[in-house]
Amino acid sequence: MRRVKRLNLEIRVQSYLSKRQKQANQKLIKGSLDTTTEWKNARQTKTIEKVLKALQAMMGDRQRCMYCLDSHGSDIEHFRPKAAFPKRMFRWRNLLLCCSECGRLKSDSFPVDGKKPLLIDPTKEEPWLHLDFDPQTGNIVPRFNPNTMTFSEKGEQTVITLQLDQREALAAGYKKTFKNLSEEIRHFLDNPDNSIDELIAKLQEKDEHGLLGWIFLGTGSFVNPFNELQSTNPSVWSACASAFK
Ligand SMILES: [Zn+2]
Repeated sequence: MRRVKRLNLEIRVQSYLSKRQKQANQKLIKGSLDTTTEWKNARQTKTIEKVLKALQAMMGDRQRCMYCLDSHGSDIEHFRPKAAFPKRMFRWRNLLLCCSECGRLKSDSFPVDGKKPLLIDPTKEEPWLHLDFDPQTGNIVPRFNPNTMTFSEKGEQTVITLQLDQREALAAGYKKTFKNLSEEIRHFLDNPDNSIDELIAKLQEKDEHGLLGWIFLGTGSFVNPFNELQSTNPSVWSACASAFK
């Protein structure tokens, strides 16, 4: 996972979403709203196709799923499920890009603590504050907070909901990215006179799974060879870290 910057929609598309939401709200009051049919009908329109394009644009060339970053983001996902939160079904800020596997696993589940979501929304927060990566298995696991001696509850619920610690293909992809980033760092450690800008560009190019967030904002800074870079080349480390914040 990685932090995703939400782009603004075209005004025309935004107005269309608002109009559809008003219509849905009116049906809800009358008791005639079927969220599945309502969304299915809207989904076939050219304007909602533009919503999909806007979400894909947020993910760059690879257009990956915002939850797992491993598969192609194939459809629009309602962060708060439309059946339980019909008043948000056409809200731009509730829409994400998702792969079929994450969509199937999440389905209509939405863990909460009171009104607070216990699922990470990568467009609103840094996922690696709640998640950790295990380089041995390639799994994504909840992050442990040594101050409170507890695991992040949001991290735990996100891992459970999307089964982030039980997906073999996903783990293999994350491990490969970890290996590629490690090799880039080792190469730099062997050639410390190389350009820092080039190192940053290569790390960004090879980070297919958002692991730079784990390295510079999460616990990856304790793992070799990243901790070696931090201890032996603190200025290079700072330059890389500020490039990813
Ligand atoms: Zn996914």
